[in-house]
Amino acid sequence: MGIGSLNETVEDRGSSLWRLTTVALVLVCLGYAALLLNIRSWDNGGVTILWPSNGLLLGVLLCSRRRQWAAYLVVGFAVDLGLNLALTFAPWTSVYLAGCNMLEVGIAAALMYRTISPNPDLTQRRQLMSLLLFGVVLAPAIASALAQLSISNLHAVPRFTAARHWFVADALGIAVMTPLYLSFRQREQFPGRSRLEVAGLLTLLVVAALGVFWQTRFPLLFLLLPVLLLLGARLRLAGSALGLLIVSIIGGYLTIRGQGPIALVHSGSSMTGDLLLQFFVAVSMLVLYVVEVVIAERERLQVNLKSSETLFRLLAEASNDVIVLSDLSGARRYISPAVTTVLGWEPGELVGHTHLQIVHPDDLAAVEALMRACREGGPVEALIYRCARKDGSYVWMEASMRLYHDETTWEPIGFVNVVRDVTARKTAEEELNRAFRLVENLAMADGLTGVANRRRFEEKMDNEWRRAMRDRSPLSVLMIDVDHFKPYNDLYGHVMGDSCLRQVAVAAQEVIHRSSDLFARYGGEEFVAVLPNTDSSGAQLVAEQIRRTVEMLGLPHSGSPSGVVTVSIGCATKTLGYDSASTVLVDEADQALYQAKSAGRNRVEVAAASTISS
Ligand code: GH3
Ligand code: MG
Ligand code: MG
Repeated sequence: MGIGSLNETVEDRGSSLWRLTTVALVLVCLGYAALLLNIRSWDNGGVTILWPSNGLLLGVLLCSRRRQWAAYLVVGFAVDLGLNLALTFAPWTSVYLAGCNMLEVGIAAALMYRTISPNPDLTQRRQLMSLLLFGVVLAPAIASALAQLSISNLHAVPRFTAARHWFVADALGIAVMTPLYLSFRQREQFPGRSRLEVAGLLTLLVVAALGVFWQTRFPLLFLLLPVLLLLGARLRLAGSALGLLIVSIIGGYLTIRGQGPIALVHSGSSMTGDLLLQFFVAVSMLVLYVVEVVIAERERLQVNLKSSETLFRLLAEASNDVIVLSDLSGARRYISPAVTTVLGWEPGELVGHTHLQIVHPDDLAAVEALMRACREGGPVEALIYRCARKDGSYVWMEASMRLYHDETTWEPIGFVNVVRDVTARKTAEEELNRAFRLVENLAMADGLTGVANRRRFEEKMDNEWRRAMRDRSPLSVLMIDVDHFKPYNDLYGHVMGDSCLRQVAVAAQEVIHRSSDLFARYGGEEFVAVLPNTDSSGAQLVAEQIRRTVEMLGLPHSGSPSGVVTVSIGCATKTLGYDSASTVLVDEADQALYQAKSAGRNRVEVAAASTISS
């Protein structure tokens, strides 16, 4: 144990001792005051109206740690014993009665501790129930039952009556003093009330109580209840308890003296009068405490509502996303201020309008479909659509929409839509797509001529080969080779050679019209054309057109017999009915090309096998 905690323990002990002494002094004063008020009543055969000490001690226990209870109970026992001895009870009777009192306080504290101790607030239903059940009913009932064994001999009253007197006085004492003590432990006893108002209201009650109880001509007891209620409404629980204590003291004192409305009403002994007063105090107490609980619950509800509203507003307004509440028709009821940053509109310009106001016409159908799906309760995915900014431009937004329901009936009443600006994301996405397409094209294009490359040709050939087999449609391939190209390079140089290849490729590609056709560079100065669903005569026609187009280009070639650049073309066509390698067709076209070369170049030759279809 460190020196610091040692000091704390010493300080703790000091303050505990101080508290114990204070509690002892207050208990002595309370007990003495109660005795002063009651001795006359006992002498006249009356009863104690309200026994305050136990209620106070119970409050003290509820506000302290359990390990301190023994000390407080010992102090309480000592004070009680002293008072009993002062009343000249026999020593053992005094010990026994003081023991019964401490038992009462101990039982009540033990049963109420868990509900009340962490934060005492008797305006909470559970806590009040615990006080009434354990503190006001059960503990005094047990203590009074035990005490009757000895008090029956004290005032020469029947056992049951004696027990009842003890029970009612202690029950009222706890009902009044415990809430009073707990309220006064709080930082503010009368929150929001000025001292003047407190003093005024208490004076009003004292005057009213004196007025009611001093005179014996008019039965005005009922007048006290509105004053007590006023005290309860303005000064809350502490006011109610204090009011009941004042009425008990003034009423008790004057009733015992034979004054007041109760003395007027009853026709029997003064004992009946005391009980009538106790009955009045008990009923008033119930009314006041129930009113307190109701008022406090309403206040708590209001505070909760207000704080949750503040919280939600804070969340909605701090968010960068736009939060929109709309009814089932889509008319907006709330829109968070982020909308001004995102779209330039003020919330006020959008509330009351529907999605038609700002959603891009092309996206309306999708937004309406989303609302429909949401209304039907199905799973809804986020939707990306365009919204108009105030300046007329459009931004891409992503909406996450949910249905919201009435809290009590659970009927759907509208949509919550969290909308976010995704323009940057969308632009990046489009950029990426473009780049991807570009890379894809690059991978499939020939670097020199820009037409499809060998890889693209093989992919195409593979697809078309399988399709042709499936559809039993004819597939044609043209092999195109530039004539005397080696001499061209030798004569004009490679740079010119490259340029010549580019011009031949562009011109030849233009001949091919169908989107399903493909023109590609096969390698070197050789090109290939794939013509799906084209028979031999069609292929021959296309080949002839290519040959002529290249010739018509009129690219000078002094090393060629014709004086211009020309091509030779081999055609092969097949209607496929069996599974064979696609290279067969290319081989046949190649052979036809070889024939064209042999036959003098600048011509089209058709493979012999082309007409055969199996
Ligand atoms: P022919 O086809 O008429 O029988 O004669 P040829 O001279 O064209 O013969 P061959 O097909 O053997 O020659 C191909 C020549 O094409 C070889 C090379 O000099 C040239 N060549 C191949 N690829 C390129 C190229 O990318 N650029 C250039 N400038 N020349 C190329
Ligand atoms: Mg060649
Ligand atoms: Mg050649």
